[in-house]
Amino acid sequence: MPEMEAGRTAYFEGNYVPTEDAQVSILTHAFNYGTGLFEGIRGYYNSEEDSVLIFRLREHIDRMVRNFSILKMDIPESSEELERVCVELVKRSGFREDVYIRPICYKNDRILAPKLTGVGSKFCCYVIKLGDYVDVSGLDVGVVSWRRLSDNAIPSRAKTTGSYVNSALASDEAAQAGFDEAIVLREDGSVAEGSAMNLFMVMDDTLITPPPSSDILVGITRATVMELAREEFGLDVVERAVSRTELYVCDELFFCGTGAQIAPVRSVDRRLIGSGGTGPITKKLQDFYFEVVQGRVEKYRHWCTPSGQSH
Ligand code: PMP
Repeated sequence: MPEMEAGRTAYFEGNYVPTEDAQVSILTHAFNYGTGLFEGIRGYYNSEEDSVLIFRLREHIDRMVRNFSILKMDIPESSEELERVCVELVKRSGFREDVYIRPICYKNDRILAPKLTGVGSKFCCYVIKLGDYVDVSGLDVGVVSWRRLSDNAIPSRAKTTGSYVNSALASDEAAQAGFDEAIVLREDGSVAEGSAMNLFMVMDDTLITPPPSSDILVGITRATVMELAREEFGLDVVERAVSRTELYVCDELFFCGTGAQIAPVRSVDRRLIGSGGTGPITKKLQDFYFEVVQGRVEKYRHWCTPSGQSH
């Protein structure tokens, strides 16, 4: 993967600064202990409007702010201000292509102990260009030996920076074994998700996905898929524990996430899913999703926040 191409401006310690000047000290708590909480948000460039449409900005900021309580975080910016920072950075980037926004709240005090109470936090944010993160035409994936971190070890519902060691171990093992992506199981052997994406099976026209109690990151794309499946296509959606071998025998399988978007899985552990192509339900959800994120479906336009690009 090429190095990230960042917008010229970042938000750091309460100010808009050149991205190269946004630097933390090696003494920072979050750098030492992974005590950061972040989001990943996509913006899609709409050329007719000459604007980047930021997808479900409110829901992303809301997830991060809700999870402050887990890490005992407190920052001066309100949720509305955090949203404004995201919009402003996209605008200042001047990018006229798809982008990815990375807000991070992190424990910044210089305190040796790995504790939470009384350790101060700050907010920073940057924007990068981002096209497709994974191939959206079909992935060959493998179940890896690493287990998904459990909610009672490192809370799986929170996007903490430290927890991405788990994702890195999983995706690295999958890549080294020749797969495009990983499927990660829980300690009890049931299915959790991909390395940084949720997962849906299609069985007899029903969508099945592991519930929040299965140590998943409760994805915003997952919620989007569930809503579109029910509302637009009248599909049943069931949240329940999923066994590994169900993946082998299901009709269709796909990943979803802000980065992954909707990405069909072609095979699991070298076993073809269905006929190996993109299944019909995955295809219609994927097509509709791309229309929605590009702001072309009026009903869901409220999910898209326009940045208005600067010249
Ligand atoms: N699981 C993990 C571990 C992730 O990092 C992500 C990406 N944020 C997802 C699932 C998908 O979540 P979302 O749809 O909110 O991006």
